[in-house]
Amino acid sequence: MKTYQITLLAGDGIGPEIMGVARAVLAQVSRNCQFHLNFTAAPFGGQAIDLTGEPLPEATLEQCRASDAILLGAVGGPVWDDHPRRPEQGLLGLRSGLGLYANLRPATVRPQLVAASSLKPEVVTGVDLLVVRELTGGLYFGQPQGIFPEKKGERRGVNTMTYSESEIERISRVAFKSAQSRRKLVTSVDKANVLAVSRLWREVVSRVALDFPDVTLNHLYVDNCAMQLIRWPKQFDVILTENLFGDILSDEAAMLTGSIGMLPSASLGEGPGVFEPVHGSAPDIAGQDRANPLAQVLSAAMLLGYGLQETTAAAQIEQAVARVLDQGYRTGDIMAEGMTQVGCQAMGEKLLLALAEGI
Ligand code: NAD
Repeated sequence: MKTYQITLLAGDGIGPEIMGVARAVLAQVSRNCQFHLNFTAAPFGGQAIDLTGEPLPEATLEQCRASDAILLGAVGGPVWDDHPRRPEQGLLGLRSGLGLYANLRPATVRPQLVAASSLKPEVVTGVDLLVVRELTGGLYFGQPQGIFPEKKGERRGVNTMTYSESEIERISRVAFKSAQSRRKLVTSVDKANVLAVSRLWREVVSRVALDFPDVTLNHLYVDNCAMQLIRWPKQFDVILTENLFGDILSDEAAMLTGSIGMLPSASLGEGPGVFEPVHGSAPDIAGQDRANPLAQVLSAAMLLGYGLQETTAAAQIEQAVARVLDQGYRTGDIMAEGMTQVGCQAMGEKLLLALAEGI
């Protein structure tokens, strides 16, 4: 039987609660689909600071490097706000330590949760898009950067937006490959009317597109894309963009769904990928069995699909989530009139039942 090594980084706040649910779901679906998942938990974030003084201990990073995929909960909390080492530094360490250059964030408006969006139902019904954001280049990492003294006692702040052809090419390939298993449309977002780096971006993306003749490519300026996402988001399948634009557009796309507890993400590189919910550690509801575990569970589905290519198992999880929502079960954050409110644990039990019924 095929066996995969999975590292679990539950982290802080609601992390351990939602991770418990996702782990049970993964174990069930692996039994359904005849493969084995070998789970190893490792300290990460605030929990790791308390244990070792470091948010990403070397042993945890080594463990991650040696695994096939990593499922991450969330980190952070007020306890560590004044600590010299912050839990969130662990996230940056993990991204650079594993060379995670592609961030994938789906924004899907589920028919059962259309009312949760702040936009009109006719605008958001059926929205199903994926933002593919470059994660290790651009303005956030380009050199020179800093605040430098100038003549006359004034200072100048500097960041540099820079991309090499190979950096653009590898993220483009992730977007085109993702589109092949979706609706086969890539919208590349840039600011080529103003920025030289965007003109190179557009040229390289267009070149890569020739290798994917089954996928249609459009180009859009970032300001127009921000408007189109609100005006008619259904036009998008895969949005491909650089680091800063992706940071902003992926949050805008997330808001279309109106429910932060439902949104998964994947960060991919050459080695093992990291799969995590978009939300944080929600310290305000931690330990109260009130967290929505579905973003974590859908991140586990992405782990199976993108990380292990176990697409049947990934689809089973997606179907189980749809089924419990159809059955009317809701955690507090997505509760609506006429539905049945359940806690984190009970939602996990409903998912396990749905998985058992689904086979
Ligand atoms: P947050 O996402 O943790 O919470 C925002 C709001 O959404 C809160 O009211 C919370 O209760 C609610 N919420 C979030 N996830 C939920 C879920 N699964 N079910 C139900 N409700 C949910 O953001 P925040 O409050 O700004 O940050 C809290 C901590 O998390 C901070 O320390 C922050 O730095 C950290 N954080 C970590 C990550 C990460 O680990 N990737 C991401 C964002 C924030």
